[in-house]
Amino acid sequence: MKKIVVKFGGSNLKTTQDIKNIINVVKNYNRPLVIVVSAFFGITNYLEEGILQVQKSIKHIDEIKKFIKTIKKDAIESHIDSPEIQKEVMKSIDNRLNELENCFKGVYYIGDVPDFVEDKILSFGEKLSSLLLTAIFRYNGIDAEEKLPEIIGLKTYGELKNASIDFKSSRESVSKALSGDKVYIVPGFYGISPKNRITLLGRGGSDYSAASFAKIIDAESLDIWKDVDGYLSSDPKLVDKPIRIKKLSYREAAELSYFGAKILHPRTVEPLMKPNIPIRIFNITKPEKELIPLTVINNEENILESVIKSVTYTDNFSVLKLSGPGIGIKSGVLGRIATLLDNHDINILSIVTSGTCINLYIENSDLKEATYLVENGGFHSISLIKPIGNISIVAIVGEGILLQHGLVYNMLTSMNKEGINAKIISGGASDVAAYVVIESADRNRAINVIHNGFFRKIDV
Ligand code: ASP
Ligand code: MG
Repeated sequence: MKKIVVKFGGSNLKTTQDIKNIINVVKNYNRPLVIVVSAFFGITNYLEEGILQVQKSIKHIDEIKKFIKTIKKDAIESHIDSPEIQKEVMKSIDNRLNELENCFKGVYYIGDVPDFVEDKILSFGEKLSSLLLTAIFRYNGIDAEEKLPEIIGLKTYGELKNASIDFKSSRESVSKALSGDKVYIVPGFYGISPKNRITLLGRGGSDYSAASFAKIIDAESLDIWKDVDGYLSSDPKLVDKPIRIKKLSYREAAELSYFGAKILHPRTVEPLMKPNIPIRIFNITKPEKELIPLTVINNEENILESVIKSVTYTDNFSVLKLSGPGIGIKSGVLGRIATLLDNHDINILSIVTSGTCINLYIENSDLKEATYLVENGGFHSISLIKPIGNISIVAIVGEGILLQHGLVYNMLTSMNKEGINAKIISGGASDVAAYVVIESADRNRAINVIHNGFFRKIDV
């Protein structure tokens, strides 16, 4: 029988009740599983700040240890009654905390943190979760065993902090290690490089870990547990009664993540598309015994009556607008700009060009440096460089978007009625998404009117 890979994220690991819910869910599955876990809520950020503080004072190491130990101790005492077992588990937590302490000491004495040390330190958030949950599961009658990526050989390639999984090199050892009839608990977020160094898979990357394990073991499905109702037709904080989306294609899910929907990490669908392993989204606060998913993502391409399935947004992008006569047609300019930015680790997220303009979409935090670099890059054909911040991208996503007329028109008409101006309009770059760039101040109103324009009176 194929296995299911189950992922519990940081939002499922906040309170005592959360762990109770997880135990119940795992018991409901009642079959061997591979469970991928994140760090407890907020712990990765806490470790990240800790690295900065430890560089200033060695005293912070004790504080960090104490803080984490208290959280773990509380969890142990809430879910394990036997004092002997509590002690035993606390001892293994202490051992792992001592390893973390050694890494922090290194940071203090060097007075700096090389990337590979930072990756190692941040991996402890997940590694402490997996150790703790394994012990709690076992006490609660679940036949659980912890498996660490560095031991089972989850190989990565590429840059530290943001590596990718090397499926070919990982397949044999990982599938073997996870082949028994048990509930395996694996920390997400990292793997191991060819030099045997711990490498992170990018912030929020435990979804991508989980997807990678699902691909490697050819899982029946990847089940992701959240604390929200799966995918909706828009952000419930911004629109009234959004509609739940029961089915999404991989492409739709990928575009929704890219344009800001926070359900899945943007790389989650990547490993699963080709083998067509479905992603099923559940809400841990409403676990049903029958394990009925709220949203299922696979390669089926359903076109709804509304065509649009969701209206989403991101505030993460800025635009660097470069103008000059013929700049969009002169060969080589774009290539040189891209190389320059890439040499400074600035990622161009998207490009929109015209005859006289090149618009580069980059992350907000890169805008200042990118502007400086282009200004001083000796580009004679660029006469005006305009950094545009405080913008939002509002995207409409749905299979069939390019096949039906009038959808972008509908979006713009809704905005127009509210007097909201689009700075850039883009459709066609993706087969399933179109978007507008607007002032951030207009974002909430825009989402509301666009959502109403598509979903009011439409029964999905
Ligand atoms: N704990 C890591 C982070 O906060 C990975 C994850 O949660 O997916 O980025
Ligand atoms: Mg996450």
